Amino acid sequence: MKTKLTTLILAFTAGLAFGHEGIELGPNKGRIVEFSDNETMHGEVTEKDGKLHIAVLDKDMKPVEVEAQSLAVTGGTREKPVKVEITKVAGGFTLPVPADGEWLIMQYKETPDAKAIIARLNYNTKKCDPCGQPEWRCACGEKK
Ligand SMILES: [Zn+2]
Repeated sequence: MKTKLTTLILAFTAGLAFGHEGIELGPNKGRIVEFSDNETMHGEVTEKDGKLHIAVLDKDMKPVEVEAQSLAVTGGTREKPVKVEITKVAGGFTLPVPADGEWLIMQYKETPDAKAIIARLNYNTKKCDPCGQPEWRCACGEKK
């Protein structure tokens, strides 16, 4: 299984740097994903009302107005990647909650002409004992 996932990721992100691997939580206890190469833009992923919300945050984790920015998300499996339907909302994007264990490959663009930044999220809903949060937004593993 692990091999499959790795292959999936490589297939989607060949030639691009991943950035740092650590899990970081945002001001709303959401999972932070990198939307830049230099920590100046972030996405904070939270779950609400049956949807994932991805808020766009600046380098100080302050909300950013979403205008020219775009997000494309691929889910599904390596055998059958599925384009996820994205809705642009105030301050970010929403998408349907993925299946448990599904990988989301996000391609964020600051403007239509900008280079796409790749972020990824494993939607693992297994509950983490120490913090009581699902693994996908648990930062217990982080040791500084
Ligand atoms: Zn935890």
